[in-house]
Amino acid sequence: MHRILACLLVAASFVGLSHSQLKTRPEQPQQKSEDEPTAGAKANNEPLYQQLRHIALQQEGIHVKDFTLKRDAGTFVFKSGTFRLLEPVNGKITGAVFTGDASFTIKPPIEVERRYLSLLTKGQPFEEEFAGAVFRFTDGAEEEIKKAAANDSSSASGDANGLFSEIQQVLRKKLKENLDVRLLEDIMSGQPGGKFVAFIKGKKYSEKEVFDVDPHGVISYFPVVPLQHQAPFPLAPEEVSFMIWDLDHLGIWTSFHYAAEYAAGKANSDEQNGSFAIEHQKLDTTISKRAFLTGIAQTKITALTDGVRVLPLDMYPTLRVETVTGEDHQQLSFIQEPKLDDANFAVILPKALKKGESYTFTTRYGGKDAISDEGGGNYFPIARDNWYPSVGFGHYTTYEMTFHIPKGMKIAATGKRLKETEEGDENVTEWDSEVPQAVAGFNFGKFKRAESKPFRETAYLLETYANPEPPAFLNALTGAGGIGGEMGAGTMSTLELMKKAMAEAQVAVDIYTNYFGDAPYKRLAMTQQTAGNFGQSWPGLVYLPITYFLDSTQRHTLRFDDPRGYFTVVGPHEIAHQWWGHTVGFNSYRDQWISEGFAEMSASIFIQLIQSQKNLNEYHKFWADERWLLNREDNQHRKAYDVGPVTLGYRLINGKSGGSVPRDLIYPKGGYILQMVRYMLRNERSNDPDIDFKKMMHEFVKTYTNRIASTEDFKAILEKYMTREMDLGGNHKMDWFFDEYVYGTDYPKYKFEHSFKTDAAGDTIVHFKLTQSNVSDTFRMLIPLYVETTDGAVIRLGGARLVGNRSIEQDFSLKGLKGKPKRVVAAYYDDVLGDIENR
Ligand SMILES: [Zn+2]
Repeated sequence: MHRILACLLVAASFVGLSHSQLKTRPEQPQQKSEDEPTAGAKANNEPLYQQLRHIALQQEGIHVKDFTLKRDAGTFVFKSGTFRLLEPVNGKITGAVFTGDASFTIKPPIEVERRYLSLLTKGQPFEEEFAGAVFRFTDGAEEEIKKAAANDSSSASGDANGLFSEIQQVLRKKLKENLDVRLLEDIMSGQPGGKFVAFIKGKKYSEKEVFDVDPHGVISYFPVVPLQHQAPFPLAPEEVSFMIWDLDHLGIWTSFHYAAEYAAGKANSDEQNGSFAIEHQKLDTTISKRAFLTGIAQTKITALTDGVRVLPLDMYPTLRVETVTGEDHQQLSFIQEPKLDDANFAVILPKALKKGESYTFTTRYGGKDAISDEGGGNYFPIARDNWYPSVGFGHYTTYEMTFHIPKGMKIAATGKRLKETEEGDENVTEWDSEVPQAVAGFNFGKFKRAESKPFRETAYLLETYANPEPPAFLNALTGAGGIGGEMGAGTMSTLELMKKAMAEAQVAVDIYTNYFGDAPYKRLAMTQQTAGNFGQSWPGLVYLPITYFLDSTQRHTLRFDDPRGYFTVVGPHEIAHQWWGHTVGFNSYRDQWISEGFAEMSASIFIQLIQSQKNLNEYHKFWADERWLLNREDNQHRKAYDVGPVTLGYRLINGKSGGSVPRDLIYPKGGYILQMVRYMLRNERSNDPDIDFKKMMHEFVKTYTNRIASTEDFKAILEKYMTREMDLGGNHKMDWFFDEYVYGTDYPKYKFEHSFKTDAAGDTIVHFKLTQSNVSDTFRMLIPLYVETTDGAVIRLGGARLVGNRSIEQDFSLKGLKGKPKRVVAAYYDDVLGDIENR
């Protein structure tokens, strides 16, 4: 399962080079390679699985008339037509095909989803008509269909067999999702199943619609995120979704928890509804000079429900499984179809586990294309979170790892390095995660390594890893002389710029430890990767884009100029992910804004503190760039803030909006949300005005170290620390703030005008007028006002409360102010979201 994780992408429009010219992302392999390992004998040999793969429709039809079938917020009305049930497997019916005249409606149980859906339907309620649909289920839907049988002698119309085989082909060859694995889980569990999915040939919107219900959490049936190479985007723990996968309408139109969970106040993005958890991984991995990866993974799982027999796992499709061995050294059956098809990996246990029972199995696998050989001793790890059998990012697990790489190369992996030796022609290292991690990974190559410590006392080992030799594609782009110019053929300023990466780590680890508390990883490796357009962060391991290591002249030659400060921010942003996304994780795409937004805001603290001796120009530019992202129009001429709230995360990508919206929304707006919190908690009476903010952040980090936290978890901690001034709702809650900025889409505009006069006593009086506009009528905010003196001091005067689209105008005395006032400024620290005009 894939999503863009702990990442900072360039704002794509400034990349002069096309994506094909400058290495930007892993490509999914398109052709069979010659040395593909053969699948093991136990692959796909489970008889019940084979029955599902070759399942057919029963002959007799069930005629229905005005039959209503409800599944959560979705309602099917079959006006007239015929169902054909599938043959039973293990005594269970797993689907049916309908042909005839029918409709489908969906009414999301929450306002955020109703609003987003209505954006896609252009304000209409969602209603679809269809003449054919394929249903797959394990929830006993066949009983409802049989009960609805009408005495209707009209003969069946439509080609049910054709429709069924079309959907089977689509799943295998186009969507590449092995639905049979999911059905097999329920068939072999001995428990009642709850899966229900409909593939609807709609007439109004699209012929490619999917309505999905899954107690283990739904997935998207197509790649949502352009950067990802394969496989679905997890919508779990949400259980209900509706999506369209044709290019014009592509997107997850709606997704939510069971309506009953909202009704009971139990809908929660921390919910763990998978059938099992991975407790521990012991990974022994060998990587050859040609980037062939061979792995032995010992995986310990624990069942979270009764009847766990089939384990769906995530493994990069070109990594082919040879054998899976059970606890008694027996060969276990497993599932993995060809790499260009629905190659989902799953293990079949010898018997069903009860809730709480554990089992350990060993997977032997190998393949090309999970890592790309980029030339010059540079390697690009394509499979970042599924180079081993996993259940996806954010499921905290401990790892013991051994890596064998070619001699003369160096590897940086997640966790603590216990040992490094040279054995024969191999470099062998051992690693221990020490604490549970959201993911495990590595970066390696013909790296030069340097090591240091943070400037202050923070106990941390800092390392840099970079390859002075450029990858082949950079050489090709810039001619045989390399991009180094006067630095000589084929060299880059890599090693020089590695010092910049080290210095950033030395400063950032101190700053973030001071602001947020200890991260559990006592080591951080800043490493170079060959992708030019994004950086990424894994526990103890940062991947910096290769463009970071080019100087501005070289970047200019590559038309990779940097008007939006990308290279200023990418290092501090990725380091901050050690806290946001790793120390404190997230379980749902709904909460990913915390990881990205908090990393952005952390970078602004970094910029502010290292620049503050001079001036705050870089800091103000950072926030101006964030506003630029929020205000930039996508290909539909829509601004990111208008498309949806930050809690929709990467789901905001749809066929209409293009791919830029999540990057333009959750990063900057998420950053602003924490920024506003920081300044609302500002304590002018303390020597350290951030003291209360730091206390709150320390508690948040401490409470959620090595585990997931949701938006609501953060809100609860904030409510412990909120000041009386912040209680704009009058109920000691931050509902008003979350409703407006986290769950809402308003982007306010402010105009602040002021003048000075002197009163009879000779004190300076400020006359000001402040206007809030472009907001809903109930939108409220506290606008901080600051006075700047002629000697450069900035003092917070207080906050002006505004509700709705209106102005306030008043006078106040600056009596007692030390120094001569130069000007009064609203939101001096860019501490209010929106466009602010100060006069
Ligand atoms: Zn990020």
